[in-house]
Amino acid sequence: MEIRVIGAGLAGSEAALVISAAGIPVRLYEMRPLKMTPAHKSDHFAELVCSNSLGSVKETDGKGLLKKELEIYGSNLLEIAKRMSVPAGKALAVDRWAFQTAVTEFIMRRRNVEIVREEVKRIEEDVPTVVATGPLTSDALATYLGEVLGEEHLFFYDAISPIVEADSLDFSKGFFANRYEEGGEDYLNFPMTEEEFDRFYEELVKADRVAPHPFEDERYFESCMPIEVLASRGRETLLFGPMRPVGLIDPRTGKRPFCVVQLRRENREGTMYNMVGFQTRLTYPEQKRVFRLIPGFENARFFRYGSIHRNTYLNSPSFLEPTLEWRGHEGIFFAGQLIGVEGYVESIASGLVAGINVVRRVTGENPLVFPDETMTGALLGYVSRGRGKDFQPMNANFGLLPLPSGRVRKSERRRLQARRALEKAREFRDLHFNFQPLCVI
Ligand SMILES: Cc1cc2nc3c(=O)[nH]c(=O)nc-3n(C[C@H](O)[C@H](O)[C@H](O)COP(=O)(O)OP(=O)(O)OC[C@H]3O[C@@H](n4cnc5c(N)ncnc54)[C@H](O)[C@@H]3O)c2cc1C
Repeated sequence: MEIRVIGAGLAGSEAALVISAAGIPVRLYEMRPLKMTPAHKSDHFAELVCSNSLGSVKETDGKGLLKKELEIYGSNLLEIAKRMSVPAGKALAVDRWAFQTAVTEFIMRRRNVEIVREEVKRIEEDVPTVVATGPLTSDALATYLGEVLGEEHLFFYDAISPIVEADSLDFSKGFFANRYEEGGEDYLNFPMTEEEFDRFYEELVKADRVAPHPFEDERYFESCMPIEVLASRGRETLLFGPMRPVGLIDPRTGKRPFCVVQLRRENREGTMYNMVGFQTRLTYPEQKRVFRLIPGFENARFFRYGSIHRNTYLNSPSFLEPTLEWRGHEGIFFAGQLIGVEGYVESIASGLVAGINVVRRVTGENPLVFPDETMTGALLGYVSRGRGKDFQPMNANFGLLPLPSGRVRKSERRRLQARRALEKAREFRDLHFNFQPLCVI
């Protein structure tokens, strides 16, 4: 029995090492250097295509908590990253070359891992497989995935709107209402006067933007146009577009506002709100500065900033189990940015889960659903059970975690959520892991 892993990026390398540690032969397919992606520069496994930082190490930060859980679960790549780290304050940054060389050499030394430098163009459904070909999946494989999953379930760009922490908003300046309906709690609307809009508009059009990568042409689909690009077409474009007030009456004035910013609930608890139609390429500091000009947003904190990237990803909620197994296709698992997790550490975490679960599947055990109270479980829950219709990739953040029970002071909340997540992760590992995924020594 052998397991295939397609793509030796962050998710695929982690998955391959987990499977190898379980004593099962792995055939690891990587198309580089025969076929390069537009962003990778080497033939190394686990290449970091941009920043050399894996984000915060604080457990009260989404990525930091995810790292602590990965330590508990025995992540190989996290262990290598720690050994190859460079000083970066409260973040884990690595010497990029040393990190990817170490991962590559480590995998190549594993006796039960066979490396195949080849572009995979289709999935053999009778062979247990982890597909982890990332945001720059080759065209041939993407075409195949579009054919088997349906074109409408494959996206090539992510156009992400910011997600705001509900607690940081001034609700007294907004009102709940769905367009053309009386009341309704789905949308939270923040109205603006003409003067407030003009000030916001002026700052929006002149704010700093992130430069696109050379392989990202700036031709956007109309439906995922960055808010600042729409704005630069003229003031009216916003007023007739995402900020249009039609169908809304402000209950405090009994009138239709000049314009509104609409927010939509992102989770059941109502702790996260997505800014509808506000996908953006502004730099993070500029998003904070400009969006805080919206009345009610003066102290807004962001769980996730907006972004727009070239990114191949799947509409995971419509076909993926929280175990990362393809629904109805036993033994085929997906991991990494392709499933709609966003970020280096998130990709590693999903690779670890897919690796553990494909091992369980071939050894006759049921794949595991990681607990919702942990960052790993919450993130994979989001990508497998999230909003199917307009699914957008997601990073690790505290808005995904259930709130602690009882009345808890806001300042205490994260600490309690983090403590509970780590306790659950340890319990879960002790109960279910009958092999040690960590093989780095
Ligand atoms: C330009 C860019 C910049 C990014 N910057 C950051 C950042 O700074 N910080 C951050 O946290 N995240 C960043 N990300 C997001 C993401 O975290 C990384 O892309 C991450 O590497 C994803 O891990 P992965 O394992 O899913 O994919 P990858 O690490 O990309 O691995 C996928 C692998 O599959 C291979 N492959 C593709 N198709 C095939 C095929 N058909 N057959 C065989 N092999 C194939 C590729 O060559 C690659 O090695 C960035 C993404 C992009 C595109």
